[in-house]
Amino acid sequence: MNKNLYALFASRFPKDKAAACMILADGRVWTYGDIDRASARMANLLVALGLQRGDRVAAQVEKTPEALVLYLATIRAGMVFLPLNPAYQRNEIEYFLGDAKPGLFVCRTQSLALGNELAKAAGVAHVLELTDSGTGSLIDAAAPYSDDFETLKRKRHDLAAILYTSGTTGRSKGAMLTHGNLAANAKTLHAYWHFGPDDVLLHMLPIFHVHGLFVACHCVLMNGTAMFFEPKFDPARALKLLPESTVFMGVPTYYVRLLQSAEFGGACCSQMRLFISGSAPLLQETFDEFKQRSGHTILERYGMTEGGMFTSNPYIGERRGGTVGLPLPGTEVRIVDDDAVLLKHDVVGNIQVRGDNVFVGYWQMPEKTKEEFTANGFFKTGDMGRMSKDGYISIIGRSKDLVITGGLNVYPKEIEELIDAMPGVLESAVIGLPHPDFGEAVTAVVVRKTPVGAGDTLSVSESTIVEVLKAQLANFKIPKRVHFVTELPRNAMGKVQKNILRQTYGAN
Ligand code: AMP
Repeated sequence: MNKNLYALFASRFPKDKAAACMILADGRVWTYGDIDRASARMANLLVALGLQRGDRVAAQVEKTPEALVLYLATIRAGMVFLPLNPAYQRNEIEYFLGDAKPGLFVCRTQSLALGNELAKAAGVAHVLELTDSGTGSLIDAAAPYSDDFETLKRKRHDLAAILYTSGTTGRSKGAMLTHGNLAANAKTLHAYWHFGPDDVLLHMLPIFHVHGLFVACHCVLMNGTAMFFEPKFDPARALKLLPESTVFMGVPTYYVRLLQSAEFGGACCSQMRLFISGSAPLLQETFDEFKQRSGHTILERYGMTEGGMFTSNPYIGERRGGTVGLPLPGTEVRIVDDDAVLLKHDVVGNIQVRGDNVFVGYWQMPEKTKEEFTANGFFKTGDMGRMSKDGYISIIGRSKDLVITGGLNVYPKEIEELIDAMPGVLESAVIGLPHPDFGEAVTAVVVRKTPVGAGDTLSVSESTIVEVLKAQLANFKIPKRVHFVTELPRNAMGKVQKNILRQTYGAN
């Protein structure tokens, strides 16, 4: 049987090919028939360009229907899709092209000259343009080709995509995902989150990342229903479209922004059945306020580029704030110490995962791949967490995020949670900074809450924070310094960039 992921999607497309798949901001609609024909034309073009099965197709483009079609065409033709964040600059593009050696690089008008230059240097044979409005030489070149394309036969282990890790630490590594990996996660999520014929997803995530491309789009393609395909997250657009949607997926920042809008409440969520959050930790406060304002309990899930989703709070059953829920069917999740010994419940350790969705390794990094897997096939996620007696997992931080002060381990999350709970605090990030005596000094960076009304005295100071923490924590965990900022630096997926904080405050 053909294990090509596109064949799986096509088998789930609605019988009526005139049914909507993508509804755009300007009202245009892409039907399932449009997607099938456009991806066939583009797949024919890829073959005509001389690309072979297994060749990489790199795309650094804006979110457009044509960009999604390029992804589908690539996997249909048995090639390997490599999406890149449009924010990447010269050095980054140079690295990705040199490392992945794609047969084709598709880029935006603004980066065409740079793309041509870097592609030439990296030996990339073809460069085509896809503009931010979905036109360009890629579309022109595909136009004359046939609307028919026989989806290439692929096996489960054949590569479908390489996604470079977003790299808040160290150099980006290309995670190799197979047709089997992506199909396994798509089937699980589609069923676990109860997608059905009446669903309409509000899609506001970028599509160069696992969250927007695989989690969100795959659920829709597996379901054969429509999504509002918006160029980016915009609270005003969300307020307009939520009343016509049933499912929303977002990073925590989106939820914070929705709550900042006075108009947001139960009324605009009357058709909604599910709000999903992930990619970064959702604050308990956001979880609680969202429930109070909208009547909906956000479902938080956890996963990463290297395997899609690993855990999820249940669809039916308790969605527990501050946790990422239970291991998903088909994914084993375990928590072990540094000697790979299984830990008891509620003890913090390393999170490891195994399952059909877990990637097959890092592109051209066999040594690194070997290091990151155990002998019996568990992937070492690099995340630290604990599992409750009844199986709910909480993420405590990245193992690299661990602060070691005077030889003692400090998990930033433990301190962040206490600071976040203080009146007057919106959120915080705890980091370790070089210190002559302790090795690293625990340091807190705090965002104060904006006062809500006159007479509101939400002032919180370094000394109050330290004082409150002293009553609750061992002395070595108390921040040596507390800095105040108006906003924490975050990457496109809402993750706090602690490396930037370390750079900023490390020099002081
Ligand atoms: P990425 O590969 O860019 O999706 O990043 C994956 C990382 O994001 C994971 O290894 C976690 O550190 C973090 N992450 C994803 N989902 C969550 C979540 N719900 N809560 C906390 N951290 C998360």
